[in-house]
Amino acid sequence: MEIPEDLEITLQEIRSQWEFASICQFLNLFYNAVGLESFDTDEFETDLVTGKSNANIIKLQMKLLKSLTGLNNILLDNYQNLIIKEYKKHNLDCSITEKLDFFDLPIREKIMILYNLCEWQFENADNFRARITEEDQQTWRVDPIGYDQKGNKYWLFDDNRLYKELPEVIAKPKPRKGKRRHRRDTTENLSNSPAMKQNRWQLVCLTSEDWNNFPKQFENSKYQIEKDFYEFVTTYIIPKVLDALKSKEKKRRLQEAIVHRKRSSRIQMKEIEKFEKERKAELERLRKEEELKIKREEEKRRKEEERLRQIQLERERRIKEREEKIRLKEEQKQKEREEQMLREMRCRRNEEGPGINGEPFEFKCICNNNEIDIEHNEVPLIVCEQCNVWMHIPCLAMKLLRFTEQPLLLYEDDIEDWKRILFICPRCKAKELNIDYDKVINKKKRGRPKLSEEEIQRKKQENSENKKQIRKRRKITDENGVVFIINDGISNSDTSASNSNNIILDSNDQPIKLSKYKLKKLEETPEEKAERERLKQERKELRRKLRLEKKLQLKLERREQRRKERLERKEQEKLQKKMEREKLRQEKKEKLQMEKLIEKMKKRNLVVFGPVGPDGQPPLLVPNQLRQHRPKVKKQSLSKDNDQLLGNNYNSISSSVTTSVLSEGSV
Ligand SMILES: [Zn+2]
Ligand SMILES: [Zn+2]
Repeated sequence: MEIPEDLEITLQEIRSQWEFASICQFLNLFYNAVGLESFDTDEFETDLVTGKSNANIIKLQMKLLKSLTGLNNILLDNYQNLIIKEYKKHNLDCSITEKLDFFDLPIREKIMILYNLCEWQFENADNFRARITEEDQQTWRVDPIGYDQKGNKYWLFDDNRLYKELPEVIAKPKPRKGKRRHRRDTTENLSNSPAMKQNRWQLVCLTSEDWNNFPKQFENSKYQIEKDFYEFVTTYIIPKVLDALKSKEKKRRLQEAIVHRKRSSRIQMKEIEKFEKERKAELERLRKEEELKIKREEEKRRKEEERLRQIQLERERRIKEREEKIRLKEEQKQKEREEQMLREMRCRRNEEGPGINGEPFEFKCICNNNEIDIEHNEVPLIVCEQCNVWMHIPCLAMKLLRFTEQPLLLYEDDIEDWKRILFICPRCKAKELNIDYDKVINKKKRGRPKLSEEEIQRKKQENSENKKQIRKRRKITDENGVVFIINDGISNSDTSASNSNNIILDSNDQPIKLSKYKLKKLEETPEEKAERERLKQERKELRRKLRLEKKLQLKLERREQRRKERLERKEQEKLQKKMEREKLRQEKKEKLQMEKLIEKMKKRNLVVFGPVGPDGQPPLLVPNQLRQHRPKVKKQSLSKDNDQLLGNNYNSISSSVTTSVLSEGSV
């Protein structure tokens, strides 16, 4: 930070320009708002004077431009053009031209450009003000801290530099008072005026030595105003400024020591070690945070993958299910077709009856009839699928219906159904249960007196003779108008006897085959027919009801199932949510602990570096603390005494400051 002597003149020039102090004050307060990591007046000054590190100046200009314009593509080859544009926007001539670079300009012009860039930030009110705090805005408006008898004003800024402003020769607005807009409008006109060219602005205090020497000139002053100023400066300002300068110097030396790895005193080494330790801890913390972040991201990625995999699995499952359904349906259809074919085959076989083409067959009905006359048989027959024994359908139906206690109702459509079923005879079924069917049935009939073979033969003959006697010839017309002529005996419950005796002729007296049931249908009275229809309807209704009930039951079952599934799903979701909440709580706890740790670290840092912030920014706190002790500026009319004392040399505000200083001094 040492400056060669040949640059001393430039340095003096910078320090005698109040715009430079303004830039420094602005950046000390708002470096964060314009996007800089830090700002140091000394470094800035060195950069400007020596021109060694133009990079910092360019960076500063770019940041100011970015904050001003909001543009993102500010580059090395266009930022100076943007400055020219900003000047045009404000109707001002810019010193930068196509031939003249910023760094070719005299130092005064450079400072003017930087000053304007800072000043214009406030025009971009919405954008810029959003980034600064109310407190910052108030700190920005600085008053002089005091006056001397010659009318010089003394200004203290956040970089702990004290400037002196000599009294004005012609009327000129003060640099830090009043409305900024007004001042900006006039400074441009005044910047080249002779008044401004005089060195009315001087840097008075920079180093600790300067600060120690400065108040001596007022120590023995006979003027009250200077006595008060001396009192104020030595009591409030100097201790705090010296503290800040000391800690800054300490930090600077510490950093130098770290850079050069100097073997300095034992205490310094200890401090370095401590600093290193803190730095390592900070690094470790950052590393851990990074690790945690990576872990979390990994977890997130894994979860997402799992989710996608689940979706894929679910889709595959659905496709499989659908295929399975189609397959089952197809199988069902095939089965039905086969079933249908089998039914048709059975029907054909039962319809054709036994003994086709003279093949041998076995007939043994449960009515104990072992013989059958195929030629004249009218009773529908069925064959057992297992033992191939033929039986009367009505006998089987009667047997079946007797057990269900239903009236015997056997019509043609029922017969058609019978012919199609997969029929296993009662004997075969009994055999499966190791029961001899005939034995069991005959046992039941044991109560009846058994007739001898002769008696049976005789009874048969009697019956047939009886029937022959009452045989009648009847005419019946069916619904299609076909006339049948029937030779019939009287209605007889003994079917075996009547079967063979029925002879039915058509209208041409040709004998035809007509089933007993068809015959019955033909002969029935209208009342009987109505009754039959009614019963048929009832059965239909019953079947329909049963079907409906079954459907309803199925529906209810399905609904119940769905309800259960829904409940299960809800339960699962609840569990998952609970787990997530638990996890979130854990994370929050960890974060809180981490924050506490950081807070602790920061506190320790502060102990090491004094008023310097943990990030190495300049000691902003000092001037704010000063403000608390600085007397408040009151706008009040002057008393006559004060007027006399001050000789009307100052405006009302400066007088009121003095008044306050006075009153505080007397206390
Ligand atoms: Zn039978
Ligand atoms: Zn059988």
